[in-house]
Amino acid sequence: MVKRALLSVSDKTGIAEFARGLEALGVKIISTGGTAKILRDAGIEVTDVAEVTGYPEMMGGRVKTLHPRIHGGLLCLRDSKEQMAEAAKEDISLLDLVAVNLYPFEVTVSKEGVELEEAIENIDIGGPTLLRSAAKNYRSVTVISDPSDYGHVLTELRSSGVISDKTRADLAVKAFRHTADYDAAIDTYLSKTLLGEEVLRLKFTDGVKLRYGENWHQKASFFKDPKMEGPTLAKAVQLHGKELSYNNYVDADNALQTIKELGNTSPAVVIVKHNNPCGLATGDKLLQALQAAWDGDPISAYGSIICTNEIFDLESATFLNGKFVEIILAPDFKPDALEYLKNKSENLRLLKLSEFRESFGTEYTYKYVIGGMLKQSRDIGIYEKWECVTEFPYPEEKRVLSEFCLKACKATKSNAVTLAHEYEPGYFMALGMGAGQPNRVDSIRKLAATKAIENLRAIYEREQPAAPFEEYCQKILLECVMASDAFFPFDDSVVYAAENNIRYIVSPGGSIRDNEVIATANRLGVSLVFTGMRHFLH
Ligand code: 5GP
Repeated sequence: MVKRALLSVSDKTGIAEFARGLEALGVKIISTGGTAKILRDAGIEVTDVAEVTGYPEMMGGRVKTLHPRIHGGLLCLRDSKEQMAEAAKEDISLLDLVAVNLYPFEVTVSKEGVELEEAIENIDIGGPTLLRSAAKNYRSVTVISDPSDYGHVLTELRSSGVISDKTRADLAVKAFRHTADYDAAIDTYLSKTLLGEEVLRLKFTDGVKLRYGENWHQKASFFKDPKMEGPTLAKAVQLHGKELSYNNYVDADNALQTIKELGNTSPAVVIVKHNNPCGLATGDKLLQALQAAWDGDPISAYGSIICTNEIFDLESATFLNGKFVEIILAPDFKPDALEYLKNKSENLRLLKLSEFRESFGTEYTYKYVIGGMLKQSRDIGIYEKWECVTEFPYPEEKRVLSEFCLKACKATKSNAVTLAHEYEPGYFMALGMGAGQPNRVDSIRKLAATKAIENLRAIYEREQPAAPFEEYCQKILLECVMASDAFFPFDDSVVYAAENNIRYIVSPGGSIRDNEVIATANRLGVSLVFTGMRHFLH
């Protein structure tokens, strides 16, 4: 039964309607100054808190509800004879429901040039105390800290005359979470303002236990960031397949970020394995992009994660016949494609992310190291300048392909080198990549170039063009672009590139041996652009 309710809200949204609903159910309403005025103006009968406490609201509103007649009414254990007798003796009437929301501290301190005094006046004291008293006694008291809960509380009261145990428990947890966040915001602000210290507070909720971590013997969970805007894995809806594993989250996140990096352009597909994009392509339609991405490394594509910015269609689903993939992440699936993929394998995870085309809300990235956390702003952008540093000019027509190549390289673990090719006018594919090597030369010589030739051979055998393979391969490599995530410390990378018929290279530049690198490029007929922007990814 709800007989007496205390309403004291900073955000007055919906409070009059809520109070009217309570009044109609015979609930007596007690309220603080500003809230009481709004309710009276709406024709609702209200008792002032000052009348209950016997004290006026004082000290500029700093002290309103901080009184035993209020907190005794909230905290008194109803099933304790002694406490009920104490309440009666002290003339304390029980309170059954509290609706409170707090002074807008976070909004206040996020304003430009806010003064400390204003911030301090926006530290709500009585409000959190009311919420905590009511939440502590949730077995008897209903606590509402969010106006969006007024509706269902009223509905419950109207239909059953009481608030269920489950609702009271949910609302109590919500209230404690709210006051915890509120105090955390005060700590963050005051630590910075008074002590000059930066406090890192991340909030993740709804932890889901995963079957295991990176390996079977490791325990793992996935926590959501409730504040994150835009397309995130936490928002993806799983339409089919086994639950996601720890490694699936890591790889799907790389896949999502890589496709987002390309921008909302033509259909694009990335194929990710072990947190590296091993295939990436754009196309006039999904199937073409998928085929080209697959051609970027058909061996590694086994057991991969596919992500696209296009609605997944049946012809693309059919392309995957006989190919093993772990996940497909797309803005949506055509019904016939969904049906086909569901039948393909019961394990294949199909993830629909409707928010795909929105932009990321992420400003920072975090990395846990033993004993600490590293925070950095997200790596946004691909180059700061576009400066051809060689005698051989870098053709402007290669700019878009080079940007594509840089984006692929940026998503690849360092030391990263990527080769990309315009396989059809306006459409690009990664031809080969070298990832995660502790030196840059191996990424080129042993990986990117070798893999590009292998991949081209597979395409050659499928398409059987008239020219001999060497000629076919050379023609493509002569026109492709190579991107490096960091500068070349020596000129050897340029030598290996030239040996493999690569003529166009983009790199951040900035090595103490840049001059040697440039001289070698000039000698070997290579065009080199310096971008001024490094993209290490560890
Ligand atoms: P009203 O606008 O009704 O005058 O005040 C509502 C606000 O006062 C709410 O945000 C509530 O959290 C806050 N509040 C309630 N009791 C107290 C108190 O005793 N001290 C302070 N500082 N704030 C209170």
